[in-house]
Amino acid sequence: METGKQYQFWFCTGSQDLYGDECLRKVAEHSAKIVEGLNASGRLPFQVVLKPTLISQASIRKTLNEANADELCAGVITWMHTFSPAKMWILGLQEYKKPLCHLHTQFNKALPYDTIDMDFMNENQSAHGDREYGHIVSRMGIERKIIVGYWEDEKVQCQLGDWMRTAIGVMESSHLRVCRLGDNMNNVAVTEGDKVEAQIRFGWEIDHFNINDAIAYVNEVSKGDVDALVEEYYSSYRILLEGRDEKAFKEAVAVQAAIELGFEKFLKDGDYHAVVTHFGMLGGLKQLPGLAIQRLMQKGYGFGAEGDWKTAAMVRLMKIMTSGIKDAKGTSFLEDYTYHLVPGQEGILQAHMLEVCPTIAEGEISIKVNPLTMGNREDPARLVFTAKEGPGVATSLIDLGNRFRLIVNAVDCKKVEKPMPKLPVATAFWTPRPDLEVGAAAWILAGGAHHTAFSYDLSVEQMTDWADAMGIESVVIDERTDLRDFKNELRWNSVYYR
Ligand code: MN
Repeated sequence: METGKQYQFWFCTGSQDLYGDECLRKVAEHSAKIVEGLNASGRLPFQVVLKPTLISQASIRKTLNEANADELCAGVITWMHTFSPAKMWILGLQEYKKPLCHLHTQFNKALPYDTIDMDFMNENQSAHGDREYGHIVSRMGIERKIIVGYWEDEKVQCQLGDWMRTAIGVMESSHLRVCRLGDNMNNVAVTEGDKVEAQIRFGWEIDHFNINDAIAYVNEVSKGDVDALVEEYYSSYRILLEGRDEKAFKEAVAVQAAIELGFEKFLKDGDYHAVVTHFGMLGGLKQLPGLAIQRLMQKGYGFGAEGDWKTAAMVRLMKIMTSGIKDAKGTSFLEDYTYHLVPGQEGILQAHMLEVCPTIAEGEISIKVNPLTMGNREDPARLVFTAKEGPGVATSLIDLGNRFRLIVNAVDCKKVEKPMPKLPVATAFWTPRPDLEVGAAAWILAGGAHHTAFSYDLSVEQMTDWADAMGIESVVIDERTDLRDFKNELRWNSVYYR
């Protein structure tokens, strides 16, 4: 996965000069120890960089503007070790543009019962200083993540690590580029949206090309490169001929190999990070891109089918946010396809015509070549597998005309009872929380799409934090969802976001 940057997060401690040099020396020393401890914890995906203690309006403004200008800085972590009169922060915060975290911690864990005196109290007053600072951030209406707890605790460090990934989603959103090889499917509503507003709000550049522009790249792929990639497929995946002619099968697979290489070069040349296709606009392609798109998603590209650029962008962002996670379980474009309504086993079978990312696969991945009526082309080759078990988040970004809304549903992925030998596509199966009945009703009430950007490796909190940072509405459907409350939340949001 290319994220392009070794991002860093700046650690800015607030104080003032009222307590003398000795106190400020200790404040700096404590901040250095905290930063060292955080970096050594192994729980943060990115490095924390210590900045000099901020004790004046000028130094706050200068540091926060330097953070804006520093390409590698993806956010600032603030902490008030002592009291830091917050009017000093107004100008700097007004000018600051990147993700902001307020780490509400304290250098010492326990009250030092036997030795505590007034000097200690004056030196260690984040309980006090962080409230003064928090007040001004709230008064100014600035979005920030507040993390409370002892800096050495695993929970606090993991929360900070999660927030860092959300911040990367914010930073990378600002220059995300989506390549549309086909327009939105005619008459479909939920995948439509305001591309100008998406660029203003999220930073996404959403361009359109004639599919033949990309096909020219596909046609230029050399036979040697196609053969080499087909060999890679044959050594990586199980080949399921199912009675098909071996040579014709391999030729069908080679069509997808050429599409993968041609599309990839087309996207790289245009600096695109996500792509959409449309089965109704395949031009001179011999097959609907199946295996090719699955492989591109695995390489980190976002994807949306039928021209769904919003989901393509979200899949890309969620792939970036989860990049580098050890033992990541995967992130994919998915579609709610069909229900299992047997009491006690309720769930939704997730799939698409072909395009499901193999990062979510568990066990063997096979290549099959089967007919597909959609697209009206030759039988396309595709990767077939089933997905992992466990919790995940399904998201849908919709355009309500006057605003975007992100719907975030906590889901539980499960194994289906039996194999589905006649279904030649990759699948997942999940039960939405709190259960299918309430989960699906809430999703429909909120206007969620049939397409989702799904990940096992992100939390509801990370996705809603991302939405908050982007200044858009988000609604959560999870174990706490009650339909009557949810309906009211949608009503109240419609006023708030008017
Ligand atoms: Mn679809």
